[in-house]
Amino acid sequence: MFYKKRLLAPGPTPVLEEALLISAKPMIHHRTEEFNAVMKDVFDKLKTVFVTKNPVLLFTSSGTGAMEAAVANLCRTDRPALVVRAGKFGERWGDITKAYGVPTDVIDVPWGQAVDPADVAKHLKQKPETTAVFTTLSETSTCVAHPIKELGEITSKTDTLLVVDGISGLGGQECRTDAWNVDVVVAGSQKALMIPPGLAFASVSEKALKKSKESNLPKFYLSFDKHHKNIAKDTTPYTPAVSLIFALQTALDRMVAEGMDAIFNRHKILGEAMRAGVKAMGLTVFSRRPVDVATAVDVPAGVDGGKLKKLFDTEYGITVAGGQDHIKGKIVRIAHMGYMDFFDSLAALAALGMGLNKLGHRVDIGAGAAAAIKRIEAA
Ligand SMILES: *Cc1c(COP(=O)(O)O)cnc(C)c1O
Repeated sequence: MFYKKRLLAPGPTPVLEEALLISAKPMIHHRTEEFNAVMKDVFDKLKTVFVTKNPVLLFTSSGTGAMEAAVANLCRTDRPALVVRAGKFGERWGDITKAYGVPTDVIDVPWGQAVDPADVAKHLKQKPETTAVFTTLSETSTCVAHPIKELGEITSKTDTLLVVDGISGLGGQECRTDAWNVDVVVAGSQKALMIPPGLAFASVSEKALKKSKESNLPKFYLSFDKHHKNIAKDTTPYTPAVSLIFALQTALDRMVAEGMDAIFNRHKILGEAMRAGVKAMGLTVFSRRPVDVATAVDVPAGVDGGKLKKLFDTEYGITVAGGQDHIKGKIVRIAHMGYMDFFDSLAALAALGMGLNKLGHRVDIGAGAAAAIKRIEAA
Protein backbone atom coordinates (compact mmCIF):
# COMPACT_ATOMS: atom_id res chain seq x y z
CA MET A 1 0.00 0.00 0.00
CA PHE A 2 1.26 3.51 -0.76
CA TYR A 3 1.13 6.01 2.07
CA LYS A 4 2.07 9.66 2.14
CA LYS A 5 4.96 10.46 4.49
CA ARG A 6 3.75 12.05 7.70
CA LEU A 7 6.20 13.48 10.20
CA LEU A 8 4.32 13.31 13.52
CA ALA A 9 7.22 13.15 15.99
CA PRO A 10 7.64 15.87 18.62
CA GLY A 11 10.26 17.66 16.58
CA PRO A 12 11.41 18.33 14.00
CA THR A 13 7.88 18.82 12.74
CA PRO A 14 6.45 19.48 9.27
CA VAL A 15 7.34 22.88 7.86
CA LEU A 16 4.71 25.36 6.71
CA GLU A 17 4.81 25.37 2.87
CA GLU A 18 4.99 29.18 2.57
CA ALA A 19 7.91 29.15 4.99
CA LEU A 20 9.74 26.53 2.94
CA LEU A 21 9.24 28.51 -0.24
CA ILE A 22 10.40 31.81 1.16
CA SER A 23 13.56 30.30 2.59
CA ALA A 24 14.59 29.51 -1.01
CA LYS A 25 14.69 33.26 -1.77
CA PRO A 26 18.04 34.63 -2.99
CA MET A 27 20.41 35.49 -0.15
CA ILE A 28 20.63 39.08 1.04
CA HIS A 29 23.31 40.72 3.16
CA HIS A 30 22.51 40.75 6.86
CA ARG A 31 23.90 44.28 7.42
CA THR A 32 21.36 46.06 5.24
CA GLU A 33 18.25 48.12 5.80
CA GLU A 34 16.28 45.45 4.01
CA PHE A 35 17.32 42.80 6.52
CA ASN A 36 17.00 45.14 9.50
CA ALA A 37 13.36 45.65 8.56
CA VAL A 38 12.84 41.89 8.58
CA MET A 39 14.53 41.57 11.99
CA LYS A 40 12.49 44.43 13.43
CA ASP A 41 9.28 42.72 12.37
CA VAL A 42 10.52 39.35 13.67
CA PHE A 43 11.56 40.71 17.09
CA ASP A 44 8.20 42.44 17.35
CA LYS A 45 6.12 39.39 16.46
CA LEU A 46 8.20 37.10 18.67
CA LYS A 47 6.92 39.09 21.63
CA THR A 48 3.34 38.32 20.63
CA VAL A 49 4.08 34.62 20.25
CA PHE A 50 5.97 34.49 23.57
CA VAL A 51 3.10 36.49 25.17
CA THR A 52 5.56 38.97 26.64
CA LYS A 53 6.46 42.64 26.54
CA ASN A 54 10.10 41.75 27.15
CA PRO A 55 12.72 41.29 24.43
CA VAL A 56 13.10 37.86 22.82
CA LEU A 57 16.71 37.11 21.95
CA LEU A 58 17.42 35.10 18.80
CA PHE A 59 20.34 32.68 18.44
CA THR A 60 21.46 30.68 15.44
CA SER A 61 21.69 27.28 17.12
CA SER A 62 19.40 24.41 18.02
CA GLY A 63 17.20 24.87 21.08
CA THR A 64 19.86 23.60 23.45
CA GLY A 65 22.00 26.62 22.53
CA ALA A 66 19.42 28.88 24.17
CA MET A 67 19.30 26.57 27.20
CA GLU A 68 23.07 26.89 27.50
CA ALA A 69 22.76 30.66 27.05
CA ALA A 70 20.31 30.83 29.97
CA VAL A 71 22.67 28.98 32.27
CA ALA A 72 25.81 30.84 31.16
CA ASN A 73 24.18 34.25 31.48
CA LEU A 74 22.22 33.83 34.71
CA CYS A 75 24.14 31.52 37.01
CA ARG A 76 27.19 31.87 39.24
CA THR A 77 29.73 29.31 40.39
CA ASP A 78 29.19 30.31 44.02
CA ARG A 79 25.41 30.20 44.06
CA PRO A 80 23.11 27.19 43.66
CA ALA A 81 20.65 26.54 40.86
CA LEU A 82 17.60 24.30 41.22
CA VAL A 83 16.78 21.87 38.44
CA VAL A 84 13.47 20.03 38.12
CA ARG A 85 14.20 16.61 36.62
CA ALA A 86 11.17 14.70 35.40
CA GLY A 87 12.53 13.37 32.13
CA LYS A 88 15.24 13.72 29.51
CA PHE A 89 14.95 17.48 29.07
CA GLY A 90 14.84 18.35 32.75
CA GLU A 91 18.02 16.26 33.01
CA ARG A 92 19.59 18.36 30.29
CA TRP A 93 19.29 21.49 32.45
CA GLY A 94 21.29 19.71 35.12
CA ASP A 95 23.89 18.52 32.61
CA ILE A 96 24.40 22.12 31.47
CA THR A 97 24.57 23.67 34.96
CA LYS A 98 27.11 21.00 35.96
CA ALA A 99 29.16 21.60 32.81
CA TYR A 100 29.44 25.24 33.88
CA GLY A 101 30.44 24.33 37.42
CA VAL A 102 27.23 25.68 38.95
CA PRO A 103 26.32 24.05 42.29
CA THR A 104 23.19 22.16 41.27
CA ASP A 105 20.32 21.03 43.47
CA VAL A 106 17.71 18.78 41.91
CA ILE A 107 14.12 17.83 42.52
CA ASP A 108 13.62 14.42 40.95
CA VAL A 109 10.10 13.63 39.84
CA PRO A 110 9.11 10.16 38.59
CA TRP A 111 8.79 10.08 34.79
CA GLY A 112 5.18 10.65 33.76
CA GLN A 113 4.48 13.04 36.63
CA ALA A 114 4.71 16.80 37.08
CA VAL A 115 6.60 18.62 39.81
CA ASP A 116 4.68 19.56 42.95
CA PRO A 117 5.06 23.36 43.35
CA ALA A 118 5.09 22.89 47.15
CA ASP A 119 8.41 21.03 46.82
CA VAL A 120 9.90 23.98 44.94
CA ALA A 121 8.53 26.45 47.51
CA LYS A 122 10.02 24.39 50.35
CA HIS A 123 13.41 24.23 48.65
CA LEU A 124 13.53 27.96 47.99
CA LYS A 125 12.62 28.68 51.60
CA GLN A 126 15.63 26.64 52.70
CA LYS A 127 17.92 28.05 50.01
CA PRO A 128 16.79 31.59 49.16
CA GLU A 129 20.20 32.23 47.55
CA THR A 130 19.16 29.97 44.62
CA THR A 131 19.73 31.88 41.38
CA ALA A 132 17.11 30.19 39.26
CA VAL A 133 14.67 27.31 39.02
CA PHE A 134 15.16 25.49 35.71
CA THR A 135 12.14 23.60 34.48
CA THR A 136 10.24 22.55 31.36
CA LEU A 137 6.97 23.71 29.77
CA SER A 138 6.40 20.47 27.87
CA GLU A 139 8.69 17.64 29.02
CA THR A 140 8.81 16.02 25.61
CA SER A 141 10.22 12.70 26.85
CA THR A 142 7.11 12.03 28.96
CA CYS A 143 4.59 14.46 27.38
CA VAL A 144 4.01 16.02 30.81
CA ALA A 145 3.18 19.69 31.44
CA HIS A 146 4.68 21.17 34.59
CA PRO A 147 2.53 23.71 36.49
CA ILE A 148 4.44 26.77 35.27
CA LYS A 149 1.88 29.32 36.45
CA GLU A 150 2.03 27.96 40.00
CA LEU A 151 5.84 27.94 39.93
CA GLY A 152 5.81 31.56 38.79
CA GLU A 153 3.60 32.51 41.74
CA ILE A 154 6.32 31.11 44.01
CA THR A 155 9.45 32.53 42.35
CA SER A 156 7.94 35.97 41.72
CA LYS A 157 7.84 36.53 45.49
CA THR A 158 11.55 35.71 45.79
CA ASP A 159 14.86 36.80 44.33
CA THR A 160 15.01 33.53 42.34
CA LEU A 161 14.36 33.42 38.60
CA LEU A 162 12.01 31.01 36.82
CA VAL A 163 13.59 29.66 33.63
CA VAL A 164 11.45 27.46 31.41
CA ASP A 165 12.51 25.22 28.55
CA GLY A 166 9.62 25.75 26.14
CA ILE A 167 11.38 24.18 23.19
CA SER A 168 8.69 21.66 22.29
CA GLY A 169 5.77 23.60 23.63
CA LEU A 170 6.10 27.22 22.71
CA GLY A 171 3.65 28.20 20.00
CA GLY A 172 1.21 25.40 20.93
CA GLN A 173 1.12 24.64 24.64
CA GLU A 174 -0.32 27.54 26.62
CA CYS A 175 2.49 29.72 27.95
CA ARG A 176 1.63 33.19 29.28
CA THR A 177 5.12 34.36 29.96
CA ASP A 178 4.48 37.71 31.66
CA ALA A 179 1.18 36.88 33.36
CA TRP A 180 2.74 33.71 34.78
CA ASN A 181 5.91 35.53 35.93
CA VAL A 182 8.28 33.45 33.84
CA ASP A 183 11.65 35.19 33.63
CA VAL A 184 13.15 33.29 30.74
CA VAL A 185 11.37 31.11 28.18
CA VAL A 186 13.65 29.24 25.82
CA ALA A 187 12.36 27.93 22.50
CA GLY A 188 13.54 26.27 19.30
CA SER A 189 12.39 26.73 15.73
CA GLN A 190 11.66 23.12 14.79
CA LYS A 191 8.69 22.26 16.95
CA ALA A 192 5.46 24.25 17.30
CA LEU A 193 6.92 27.20 15.37
CA MET A 194 6.56 25.28 12.08
CA ILE A 195 9.99 25.99 10.54
CA PRO A 196 13.19 23.90 10.20
CA PRO A 197 15.74 23.37 13.00
CA GLY A 198 18.45 26.01 13.42
CA LEU A 199 17.08 28.92 15.43
CA ALA A 200 16.71 29.28 19.19
CA PHE A 201 15.08 31.95 21.31
CA ALA A 202 15.06 33.25 24.85
CA SER A 203 12.63 35.81 26.25
CA VAL A 204 14.28 37.74 29.08
CA SER A 205 12.48 39.60 31.89
CA GLU A 206 13.90 42.69 33.56
CA LYS A 207 14.62 40.62 36.66
CA ALA A 208 16.61 38.19 34.50
CA LEU A 209 18.47 40.96 32.68
CA LYS A 210 19.46 42.44 36.02
CA LYS A 211 20.61 39.07 37.29
CA SER A 212 22.59 38.45 34.10
CA LYS A 213 24.83 41.38 35.06
CA GLU A 214 25.84 39.47 38.21
CA SER A 215 26.73 36.19 36.51
CA ASN A 216 30.37 35.13 36.69
CA LEU A 217 30.34 32.43 33.99
CA PRO A 218 32.14 32.70 30.64
CA LYS A 219 30.08 33.49 27.54
CA PHE A 220 30.74 34.99 24.16
CA TYR A 221 28.58 33.84 21.24
CA LEU A 222 25.61 33.35 23.55
CA SER A 223 25.94 36.57 25.54
CA PHE A 224 22.51 37.92 26.57
CA ASP A 225 23.98 41.39 26.86
CA LYS A 226 25.34 41.47 23.31
CA HIS A 227 22.15 40.04 21.82
CA HIS A 228 19.98 42.37 23.86
CA LYS A 229 21.93 45.47 22.78
CA ASN A 230 21.65 44.45 19.12
CA ILE A 231 17.86 44.14 19.26
CA ALA A 232 17.73 47.92 19.71
CA LYS A 233 19.53 48.17 16.35
CA ASP A 234 17.17 45.63 14.69
CA THR A 235 19.97 43.15 14.27
CA THR A 236 21.95 40.30 15.81
CA PRO A 237 25.60 40.43 16.91
CA TYR A 238 26.75 37.77 14.41
CA THR A 239 25.53 36.52 11.02
CA PRO A 240 22.18 34.85 11.66
CA ALA A 241 20.66 32.03 9.59
CA VAL A 242 19.16 34.53 7.14
CA SER A 243 17.07 31.99 5.18
CA LEU A 244 15.58 30.57 8.36
CA ILE A 245 14.67 34.06 9.45
CA PHE A 246 12.69 34.57 6.23
CA ALA A 247 10.88 31.35 7.09
CA LEU A 248 10.40 32.51 10.67
CA GLN A 249 8.88 35.80 9.57
CA THR A 250 6.34 33.93 7.45
CA ALA A 251 5.44 31.54 10.27
CA LEU A 252 5.13 34.39 12.77
CA ASP A 253 2.85 36.30 10.38
CA ARG A 254 0.53 33.36 10.33
CA MET A 255 0.64 32.88 14.10
CA VAL A 256 0.01 36.53 14.87
CA ALA A 257 -2.93 36.53 12.43
CA GLU A 258 -4.46 33.48 14.12
CA GLY A 259 -3.83 34.88 17.60
CA MET A 260 -2.24 33.14 20.58
CA ASP A 261 -5.53 32.44 22.38
CA ALA A 262 -6.82 30.68 19.28
CA ILE A 263 -3.56 28.76 18.87
CA PHE A 264 -3.55 27.58 22.50
CA ASN A 265 -7.19 26.58 22.21
CA ARG A 266 -6.61 24.71 18.94
CA HIS A 267 -3.83 22.66 20.53
CA LYS A 268 -5.94 22.04 23.62
CA ILE A 269 -8.68 20.56 21.46
CA LEU A 270 -6.19 18.47 19.47
CA GLY A 271 -4.76 17.12 22.75
CA GLU A 272 -8.20 16.28 24.12
CA ALA A 273 -9.26 14.63 20.86
CA MET A 274 -6.14 12.47 20.75
CA ARG A 275 -6.49 11.38 24.37
CA ALA A 276 -10.19 10.66 23.90
CA GLY A 277 -9.36 8.51 20.87
CA VAL A 278 -6.62 6.63 22.70
CA LYS A 279 -8.87 5.92 25.68
CA ALA A 280 -11.80 4.84 23.51
CA MET A 281 -9.51 2.18 22.01
CA GLY A 282 -9.01 0.81 25.53
CA LEU A 283 -5.48 2.22 25.78
CA THR A 284 -3.97 4.46 28.45
CA VAL A 285 -2.06 7.75 28.42
CA PHE A 286 1.35 7.65 30.14
CA SER A 287 1.34 11.25 31.37
CA ARG A 288 -0.48 12.20 34.60
CA ARG A 289 -0.58 15.87 33.59
CA PRO A 290 -0.52 15.64 29.79
CA VAL A 291 0.59 18.38 27.45
CA ASP A 292 -1.59 19.46 24.52
CA VAL A 293 1.18 19.27 21.93
CA ALA A 294 1.91 15.54 22.03
CA THR A 295 0.47 12.34 23.50
CA ALA A 296 2.43 9.51 25.11
CA VAL A 297 0.47 6.29 24.80
CA ASP A 298 1.33 3.29 26.99
CA VAL A 299 2.25 0.28 24.88
CA PRO A 300 -0.06 -2.52 26.07
CA ALA A 301 1.55 -5.39 28.00
CA GLY A 302 2.78 -8.13 25.67
CA VAL A 303 3.31 -5.76 22.72
CA ASP A 304 6.83 -4.90 21.57
CA GLY A 305 6.88 -1.09 21.57
CA GLY A 306 9.92 -0.97 19.31
CA LYS A 307 8.08 -3.04 16.70
CA LEU A 308 4.98 -0.86 17.01
CA LYS A 309 6.96 2.30 16.42
CA LYS A 310 8.68 0.68 13.43
CA LEU A 311 5.32 -0.36 11.93
CA PHE A 312 4.16 3.26 11.99
CA ASP A 313 7.10 4.07 9.78
CA THR A 314 7.47 1.07 7.48
CA GLU A 315 3.76 0.21 7.05
CA TYR A 316 1.98 3.53 7.33
CA GLY A 317 4.57 6.18 6.45
CA ILE A 318 4.19 7.91 9.81
CA THR A 319 7.15 8.97 11.94
CA VAL A 320 6.41 8.98 15.66
CA ALA A 321 8.75 8.75 18.65
CA GLY A 322 9.18 5.92 21.13
CA GLY A 323 10.22 6.09 24.76
CA GLN A 324 13.72 7.03 25.90
CA ASP A 325 15.97 5.46 28.52
CA HIS A 326 14.11 3.23 31.02
CA ILE A 327 10.77 3.68 29.24
CA LYS A 328 12.18 2.68 25.84
CA GLY A 329 9.66 0.38 24.16
CA LYS A 330 7.00 1.21 26.76
CA ILE A 331 5.38 4.26 25.14
CA VAL A 332 4.85 5.79 21.72
CA ARG A 333 4.74 9.56 21.44
CA ILE A 334 2.54 11.16 18.81
CA ALA A 335 2.81 14.90 18.28
CA HIS A 336 -0.04 17.26 17.40
CA MET A 337 1.70 20.61 17.29
CA GLY A 338 2.57 23.37 14.90
CA TYR A 339 1.84 22.53 11.28
CA MET A 340 -0.15 19.37 12.06
CA ASP A 341 -3.90 19.15 12.00
CA PHE A 342 -6.69 16.93 13.25
CA PHE A 343 -6.57 14.71 10.19
CA ASP A 344 -2.91 14.00 10.94
CA SER A 345 -4.01 12.96 14.43
CA LEU A 346 -6.75 10.78 12.98
CA ALA A 347 -4.19 9.10 10.72
CA ALA A 348 -1.96 8.49 13.73
CA LEU A 349 -4.83 7.02 15.74
CA ALA A 350 -5.74 4.70 12.86
CA ALA A 351 -2.12 3.64 12.44
CA LEU A 352 -1.84 3.03 16.18
CA GLY A 353 -4.87 0.76 16.06
CA MET A 354 -3.80 -0.99 12.85
CA GLY A 355 -0.30 -1.53 14.21
CA LEU A 356 -1.60 -2.97 17.48
CA ASN A 357 -4.03 -5.25 15.66
CA LYS A 358 -1.18 -6.48 13.48
CA LEU A 359 0.88 -7.23 16.58
CA GLY A 360 -1.96 -9.28 18.04
CA HIS A 361 -3.47 -6.75 20.45
CA ARG A 362 -7.01 -6.15 19.16
CA VAL A 363 -8.41 -2.67 19.59
CA ASP A 364 -11.56 -1.00 18.27
CA ILE A 365 -10.19 1.59 15.84
CA GLY A 366 -13.67 2.78 14.96
CA ALA A 367 -14.42 3.62 18.60
CA GLY A 368 -11.13 5.56 18.83
CA ALA A 369 -11.80 7.53 15.68
CA ALA A 370 -15.40 8.25 16.71
CA ALA A 371 -14.35 9.58 20.11
CA ALA A 372 -11.70 11.84 18.60
CA ILE A 373 -14.09 13.16 15.95
CA LYS A 374 -16.76 13.79 18.58
CA ARG A 375 -14.35 16.09 20.45
CA ILE A 376 -13.55 18.02 17.27
CA GLU A 377 -17.22 18.37 16.34
CA ALA A 378 -17.96 19.78 19.78
CA ALA A 379 -15.31 22.49 19.34
C1 LIG B 1 13.51 19.05 21.37
C2 LIG B 1 13.71 19.54 22.74
C3 LIG B 1 14.96 20.01 23.15
C4 LIG B 1 16.18 19.89 22.30
O1 LIG B 1 16.36 20.88 21.48
P1 LIG B 1 17.46 20.87 20.32
O2 LIG B 1 16.84 21.78 19.35
O3 LIG B 1 17.61 19.46 19.84
O4 LIG B 1 18.71 21.38 20.90
C5 LIG B 1 15.07 20.54 24.42
N1 LIG B 1 14.01 20.57 25.25
C6 LIG B 1 12.80 20.09 24.90
C7 LIG B 1 11.68 20.14 25.87
C8 LIG B 1 12.63 19.57 23.63
O5 LIG B 1 11.43 19.08 23.28
